[in-house]
Amino acid sequence: MSTEKLPRTATVKGPAEWFTGDVYFNAYYAGTEPSRARLNLVRFTPGAHTAWHKHAVGQTLHVTDGVGYVQSRGEELIELHPGDTVHTPAGEWHWHGATGDSFMCHLALWEAPEPGSDEPETTWGELLTPEEYPG
Ligand code: MN
Repeated sequence: MSTEKLPRTATVKGPAEWFTGDVYFNAYYAGTEPSRARLNLVRFTPGAHTAWHKHAVGQTLHVTDGVGYVQSRGEELIELHPGDTVHTPAGEWHWHGATGDSFMCHLALWEAPEPGSDEPETTWGELLTPEEYPG
């Protein structure tokens, strides 16, 4: 094995069960054991955002463009700008997305659970209510 350029991946529209509004992502990397790393670029159109969800092994987001939000359940809203990096711990319910008047793009890094775990990488819950989304 040596360094190799990976195949380019298609931009995929985020499914309506997981996202409010128009969201597009590219899955750039999904490691094979012993790596369980996952790397996506996610592009949110203005007002678009994830449903409530949690990651079995946590998640790190790095904002590359635009203005957005991340919020854990019961915690304060965090505004995101290009260059910001945020980490959400394993099992913590949260959402992320664009502000109402800006696009927002972030890289998302997470890991699959250990082999043999019956927990999914990401567990999806309810879409945000209009009252839960700021503005
Ligand atoms: Mn997340």
